Amino acid sequence: MKIALVGNQNSGKTTLFNLLTGTNQKIGNWPGVTIERKVGKIKDLGDDLVDLPGIYSLSPYTVEEEVSRKFVLEDKPDIIINIVDATSIERSLYLTTQLMELDTKVIIALNMADRLEKKGIHIDKEKLAKEIGTDVVIISALKATGIEELKNTIKKYNKQKVRSKEIFKSDIENEIINIENELKVNRFMAIKILENDKLYQSYQKGIVKNSRQKLEETYKMDIEEIIANARYEYIVKIKNKSTTITPIKETMSDKLDKIFLNKFLAFPIFVVIMFLVYYLSVGVVGSFTVDWISDLVKNFGEIVRECLTNLGASAWSTSLVVDGIIAGVGAVLGFVPQLIILFLCISILETTGYMSRVTFLLDKLFKKFGLSGETLVPFIVGLRTVSYTH
Ligand code: GDP
Ligand code: MG
Repeated sequence: MKIALVGNQNSGKTTLFNLLTGTNQKIGNWPGVTIERKVGKIKDLGDDLVDLPGIYSLSPYTVEEEVSRKFVLEDKPDIIINIVDATSIERSLYLTTQLMELDTKVIIALNMADRLEKKGIHIDKEKLAKEIGTDVVIISALKATGIEELKNTIKKYNKQKVRSKEIFKSDIENEIINIENELKVNRFMAIKILENDKLYQSYQKGIVKNSRQKLEETYKMDIEEIIANARYEYIVKIKNKSTTITPIKETMSDKLDKIFLNKFLAFPIFVVIMFLVYYLSVGVVGSFTVDWISDLVKNFGEIVRECLTNLGASAWSTSLVVDGIIAGVGAVLGFVPQLIILFLCISILETTGYMSRVTFLLDKLFKKFGLSGETLVPFIVGLRTVSYTH
């Protein structure tokens, strides 16, 4: 069997293609255009699979649409797998409504299942399948879930194509059926002919013009708009029937983000936090610990000096130990509490995620100087180093 993958850009066609075919694929170009053409065989099943260019409709406006449309109309695949980003079905089903009008069997693969729960979206696939009138499978091409079910649905295929649901209001529907019967064409072509599609100019007969005029007068719109609006109305209806969105509970972290990353508060809060870090590590608390440690070292030195003198050590060796070693180590030791406090502060900011958020926040500002927001950490540490040397 010949199977085609059809869907919007970034819906996951190539990911699914690679998953289904593995290494069993050939890459080339579509004839006459520099658009990548991937064909392969589905593992286990052996059916031919084609990855078609991403499209939003079957109108011949873009090169991608032209290539995909030509393939589904002329190469006549046995099955179209219509891959749909399940997190935004409204946008994707526009193409689906058109595919359903072809004579080809369509399987709808709702992709990105792994992202649904996080977004609080629940899709009742049985209801959706019933509304649209074809098989619906929920998959994740990335996480490789639902693939067996997809393969089983492909295996189940039989040649009978059920006529697509009537999605237009009865006056439009009647004109479509009329054209189908009069011109002996299928539903897809009848709609395209009614729309005055450039591919079917030779079919433009009196009865088509009459139908078009009648509808345009009733709806006070041009025919393409009438058809597009009707599709959207239908999509909203079936989406509402099959999808529920539970508002995701705001976590504590979301609430804090709202405050810390608020458009107006973010920068003042950042300044306050940075001041606190500075205050704790270098400012009053810091210099307090420096004084405290240097007093401690001084007292310890005096005790050692007294001991050494009592033991009868020479003046120079006492001085070497007390003024050299103890005072020297003490001077370095004096900064240790400051460094501990500084790194403690930085690690708190990092583990709470504030640092990465602020990095993002500062990106714009830092970019002005040719730096990225990630420069923040060396920037802060550098600032401290500067203040130590003063
Ligand atoms: P194409 O334009 O339709 O060929 O889409 P791609 O296969 O190139 O996928 C577009 C992006 O969506 C890539 O970053 C994929 O990793 C991602 N993607 C594809 N399928 C899934 C999925 O099931 N779940 C998630 N989370 N991401 C996916
Ligand atoms: Mg692709």
